[in-house]
Amino acid sequence: MPRPQSLVRPLVRALHPYTPGEQPRVRGLIKLNTNENPYSPSPKVLDAVRAAVDGRLRLYPDPSADRLREGLARFHGCEPRQVIVGNGSDELLALAVRSFVEPAGAHGSTESRSTVQFFSPSYSLYPVLAASHGASVRSVPLAEGFSIPSVGALRKSGCFDFRAALTLVTTPNAPSGAGYSRETLRGLVRATKGVVVLDEAYVDFAEEDALQLAFDHPHVLVSRTFSKAYSLCFQRVGYFIGHPDLIGALHAMRDSYNVNGLGQIAAEATLRDLPHYRRGFSRIKRTREHLRTELAAMGWEVLPSQTNFLMCQPAGASAREWLEWLRERKILVRWFSAPELSKWLRITVGSEAEAEALLRAVRMVRETISG
Ligand SMILES: *Cc1c(COP(=O)(O)O)cnc(C)c1O
Repeated sequence: MPRPQSLVRPLVRALHPYTPGEQPRVRGLIKLNTNENPYSPSPKVLDAVRAAVDGRLRLYPDPSADRLREGLARFHGCEPRQVIVGNGSDELLALAVRSFVEPAGAHGSTESRSTVQFFSPSYSLYPVLAASHGASVRSVPLAEGFSIPSVGALRKSGCFDFRAALTLVTTPNAPSGAGYSRETLRGLVRATKGVVVLDEAYVDFAEEDALQLAFDHPHVLVSRTFSKAYSLCFQRVGYFIGHPDLIGALHAMRDSYNVNGLGQIAAEATLRDLPHYRRGFSRIKRTREHLRTELAAMGWEVLPSQTNFLMCQPAGASAREWLEWLRERKILVRWFSAPELSKWLRITVGSEAEAEALLRAVRMVRETISG
């Protein structure tokens, strides 16, 4: 009998899978580690999902999520053929890799045709998607303050491949929270020949979005999700907007029923009650600025944020130690072991009450370590 391990492709055996933030089931835990929204979806969304839970669960959902794509097209002022919906935007990011990038060593492929490129640090799923496809990976360091280097600087450094098959840009950036202007991104996409995905998972908390670039430039796709800003992580609904030819390629590669029926219904109902969510964005942005001021007053270095999380360097002890001390007080935040990030904690902006609980815990730990 062969050993089961030997039946697995070498590429898969060598894979370092993505590490999601923990979802522990601990009572009373304050979860500030995965950038979930602290507020419930609109009551209208909950009603719509409840009303759909009956014998119809035996039927397949709409394979191309037509009603939802029509709603999204109206919302963004485009046509449904410029929209594809996925099982979370993560699915669409994976489809982009499979649709636009040749595996390295494929017949007739060149280095650039096989390259998935992204800035570092950014969303840590990207290298996993590239590796699982057998693509070449290019990780391009961000500049001072997690900013995007100028096109001139990118040309000079030689790190950036202007012909890479796929460039993934997290904007606003995660995990730093840095925001990028539309014109900065326009400069970058103008200089780039391959497909560029602008991953706007956090854009509803930012000052500016770059959706217009997907309408102005046929090689640009904008990625959005209902998960973070629209309190719908559980349902897994994300979407891409862009040129019908690129969107059509992704449709050709996706599973027939890639978006579950309750997810489609929840997302459609979300679009019918946007004011509910806009009130939440304002509250989260207010809490974000309050947290930032209070943590800075205790000597923490807190970066400006255009997202629903704050990137902080705690004072008095290492980020790793703070992670453990906060966890002992039932507050979960995110720490990344990668050397360039290990000094930082990423803290989701929760509700007003969660922010106060975090500040109380930080004050208590501070007294303990200084006393
Ligand atoms: C959360 C997140 C996503 C994934 O969102 P889903 O739609 O839930 O799959 C994509 N990109 C970034 C940068 C994220 O933080």
